[in-house]
Amino acid sequence: MFTVSNNRPLATTITGSLPRPSWFTEGLSRRPFLEAMGSDYQFREQYFDAVTAVIGDQVRAGLDIVTDGDMRFDNDIGGRSWFGYLFERMDGLGDIAMRPGGNEWAPRDDSGSVKRVDAPGDILHEVMESRLPPRILGPVGRGSLQYDAIFKAAQRLTEHPVKIGSCCGQMVHKNSVNDHYQNSIDAVMGFSDALNEEYHAVADAGAQILQVEEPCLHFVADSVWEISLDDYVRAFNREVAGLRDRLEVWCHTCWGNPLAQKVEANYSYEAILPYLDQLDVDVVTFETADNKGAELEVIASGIGRDKKICIGAVTHRTLQVETPHEVAALIKRALEFIDLDRLLISSDCGFGRQGMSRMHAFYKMVSLVKGVNLVRKELGLDAAEAPAAVGRYDFLR
Ligand SMILES: [Zn+2]
Repeated sequence: MFTVSNNRPLATTITGSLPRPSWFTEGLSRRPFLEAMGSDYQFREQYFDAVTAVIGDQVRAGLDIVTDGDMRFDNDIGGRSWFGYLFERMDGLGDIAMRPGGNEWAPRDDSGSVKRVDAPGDILHEVMESRLPPRILGPVGRGSLQYDAIFKAAQRLTEHPVKIGSCCGQMVHKNSVNDHYQNSIDAVMGFSDALNEEYHAVADAGAQILQVEEPCLHFVADSVWEISLDDYVRAFNREVAGLRDRLEVWCHTCWGNPLAQKVEANYSYEAILPYLDQLDVDVVTFETADNKGAELEVIASGIGRDKKICIGAVTHRTLQVETPHEVAALIKRALEFIDLDRLLISSDCGFGRQGMSRMHAFYKMVSLVKGVNLVRKELGLDAAEAPAAVGRYDFLR
């Protein structure tokens, strides 16, 4: 159901992750969150301070919906923890398999013959070296994900709604090696059921919004995988079953973010929109800043009115901070195809994949809100308060 985006046209947020503050040197290192928070003073202090800092950055930027910056993730290679947090904590997953799990999606080099993940000297090869997959050794369960506690730790720090996100179960399955289930469908459904239980615990904790990140759909459109697109839709909807009655459910999609890299060569949503439209969610996010809104019209025509559309108005792949006018221009183009009450504004993906500094991420967020405010003013809507953009106390005055 629409909760946080109701009555807030062009509500703003970011995908989720932010660069870690440089002084945040502790990490969970495979421990359950509550164990570390309950027994490790250094971690607890740094974690709360880090979440306070990144929420503060978002509030100063003027965002409507904030995240905890994914501060639970360790300082690892290219955002490995987006998978790794689940690899290391879900029941049924065991030791590391020394072969890549499900890298059929992997893009090929310019010759078309070599998978980039298999090519030493390619940045995606280094990413893959750090992302060795777990074996599925028994029935998959939610284990010690503890998303409910992670939500509570952030929401107690702010009055803004906190959006907690998780890597989708089917993406964790795709990057695991199945040594337990009879077939891939049973395995992927095992992940769906486990995460569904976990998400309901987040709703029990009082969350108003939850984001499930990256169904496999848009990565498989052109390739032959052993699971059909219809089965991926079924698995996704099992993962979010019953949640729309309790909170606002978002599905995030983009074209990749390990070390801020694009991982898909084709890069078009068109073929997959009929499947994304079947997802049992309130909002679908799309990467639209990186290609300057090339598919806005196609996206708008492919997603039904029961859902809102969240577009990326700043990209996670460049260090050049978009100007507010660039952000506003993209939003105005989107409004040619998407009604005002159905359009939400975010980043294309998270900023916390070693692609940029905390300062770059901060000014992208500020620019995003400034750009949205330009459009809001033109439309006679209330602008967001953005303390970072108020010069009253700046040093140069
Ligand atoms: Zn993403």
